[in-house]
Amino acid sequence: MRLSNLTRLLFILIAIGVLHSFSLSQEMNGRFLIGDMTIQAGEIRSGYLPVPEESGIETRIPITVINGSMPGEVLALVAGVHGYEYPPILALYRLKKNIDPATLSGTLILVHIASLQSFQKRTIYYNPHDWKNLNRVFPGDLKGTISQRVAYVLKKEVVDRCDYLIDMHCGDGNEALIPYTYWMISGDKNFDDISKKMALAFGIKYIIIDQSRTKDLSDSKYLGNTAVLSEKPAITTESGYLGKTDEESIVRNTRGVLSVMRLLKMIKGAPDMIRNPIWIDKYEVVYSDADGLFYPQTEMGYFAKKGEIMGYLTDYLGNVVQELRAPFSGIVLYIIHTPPANKGEPLFEIGSILDDGEMKFP
Ligand SMILES: [Zn+2]
Repeated sequence: MRLSNLTRLLFILIAIGVLHSFSLSQEMNGRFLIGDMTIQAGEIRSGYLPVPEESGIETRIPITVINGSMPGEVLALVAGVHGYEYPPILALYRLKKNIDPATLSGTLILVHIASLQSFQKRTIYYNPHDWKNLNRVFPGDLKGTISQRVAYVLKKEVVDRCDYLIDMHCGDGNEALIPYTYWMISGDKNFDDISKKMALAFGIKYIIIDQSRTKDLSDSKYLGNTAVLSEKPAITTESGYLGKTDEESIVRNTRGVLSVMRLLKMIKGAPDMIRNPIWIDKYEVVYSDADGLFYPQTEMGYFAKKGEIMGYLTDYLGNVVQELRAPFSGIVLYIIHTPPANKGEPLFEIGSILDDGEMKFP
């Protein structure tokens, strides 16, 4: 009786051992699962993440997974959260061609066009079916409108499956914008040091120290913030403007990604860290109070003094209804450069530059 109990225990221990080594070998063979795709180590595969249909409206998200032949970090690169922001989208298709899974450690998830319907219909900011801004509805809702369902799929399949994330934006079709990066502060020093290094490695010299995002994951709003609140170090980058596809903006994106991949030891070489970043410790988006036409009176990248006129609004009859002034002295990060102005939509964003002498941020 004693012996048979011991035998039973031995059997159980052996069974646990076998199961354990089985699950380990599954991890070690390096398969990566996303949506209904399985990507073996050393393999590159493209496909779609389906977004479920509701009230006759459905969509899908084109992705590529490059699964390295060696183990390592999982980095998600997301383009096209705004479908009229082209340089990040074009940059990811270039990276797809140029990254060899045989020499890659870890896994790259490329989300080519997160808001495909907006891309198809050439809409700025909004999905043409529900007129919601995808980058305001995270973490999404499987039973919500199409933008909320896209956000839900991105959270579940991309944010939750990665270790690090770069949310890649640029000036929308109507925005004249200088390149800059949002470094979103979580308050956890070690975590924030990692995302700070990602921001420096991406290589854009203007970096916003962003302490303004909500800390509530159930209302995280932005993709980058959703990643941060899910404990995935993340940055949001801005490179490109006014619906252009200029080479400089595309290359800034591809170089930035490769440098962050070096930082994360996914490819060989040292990251190209920005040596003299310009930190922006306060920023403000100024919104339109009325519908009408906007006439910018300054340019992107211009240093404005507090109170200086940035532009003015007229009604549809041509009457000036509002003058917009700089709320504080700082750099014009972007300014609307096409005439339509709608109540509640942004007109410009200004950032106050931190003196190196007074580094008070975490
Ligand atoms: Zn955007």
